Amino acid sequence: MVNYLRISVTDRCNLRCIYCLPSGMESFLPHSEILSYEEIAGIVKMLSECGIRKVRLTGGEPLVRRKIESLIEMIKLIPSISEISMTTNGILLGQKAVVLKEAGLGRVTISLNTLKEDRYERITGYDNFQDVWNSIDTALKIGFNPVKLNAIFFKGINDDEIIDFAELSIEFDLSIRFIEYFSTQNEFLNLEERFVPNRVVKEVIEKRFGRLLPAEVIGNGPAINYRIPGTKGSIGFIDSNEGYFCARCNRLRLSSVGKLYPCLFSPFNINLKEMLRRNLTRSEMMKAMNNLIHKKHNYSKPIKREYEFAMNKIGG
Ligand code: SAM
Repeated sequence: MVNYLRISVTDRCNLRCIYCLPSGMESFLPHSEILSYEEIAGIVKMLSECGIRKVRLTGGEPLVRRKIESLIEMIKLIPSISEISMTTNGILLGQKAVVLKEAGLGRVTISLNTLKEDRYERITGYDNFQDVWNSIDTALKIGFNPVKLNAIFFKGINDDEIIDFAELSIEFDLSIRFIEYFSTQNEFLNLEERFVPNRVVKEVIEKRFGRLLPAEVIGNGPAINYRIPGTKGSIGFIDSNEGYFCARCNRLRLSSVGKLYPCLFSPFNINLKEMLRRNLTRSEMMKAMNNLIHKKHNYSKPIKREYEFAMNKIGG
């Protein structure tokens, strides 16, 4: 059942993470190329009539887009959308958390790949570790539920922190999720050589804490969740590379330039921005959306990667 939409609200970001948007790789689009909030809300409304119930705002960095809370308010008004969440690097979340919650944001996922301040700057290019840490604290305090943390490990860069991240799930009511790195347009960095499979991450954690117990976590994603026995938080594994979850994938992706994709790895898309700006009728647009959803239902086998993309544009 395709019921979940991830929306990249901007290709811009306030970090230059080595694995996502390294310094020098920026080629940001002019604002006129990016969907307006009215256009996004109109698309969500049509997609809600095709079965979409849950929406996640991502980017780029969604919190660098001005007044993102007004988009949340617009989506909140669509009756069949039951949940709005956001994936953010957390830098601006501390300042905006209350406004976002009041606008209707229900859940947040914060990306953080190290718990060491100096290393944070080496991975992201900026010195914002404390801001992110404060945002995690604020998110927990104001009651986003659950608060998830996304981490990716790279050999020789941060893979000595696997236990530190697992320990966060003991100390805090956080859902810590380990995502396997996959190559993108920025492959020239040779990070593939530093790939750490999630089966290794799990082995390291189980060696230290014993066998992990299965856990239930609210969400829509492909994570398989566990818990260290007796702890508040949970540990999830998103096996982007070594596992595949096509058969149970329920998501569509709307890129910042208004292309709707059935899958991150599929080049097939429909250009909703063009349709809107050429004044196609609502029924013509919904027909194209339903066709795309129908096509996705036929993805019973893993999708072969056929093109390279930039995460900030399509939306991570
Ligand atoms: N700026 C926000 C953030 O940092 O969470 C949202 C966008 S970011 C592209 C969304 C997620 O994609 C982050 O958790 C990030 O770590 C993940 N990501 C980016 N590039 C990736 C890659 N090459 N492999 C796996 N995950 C990646």
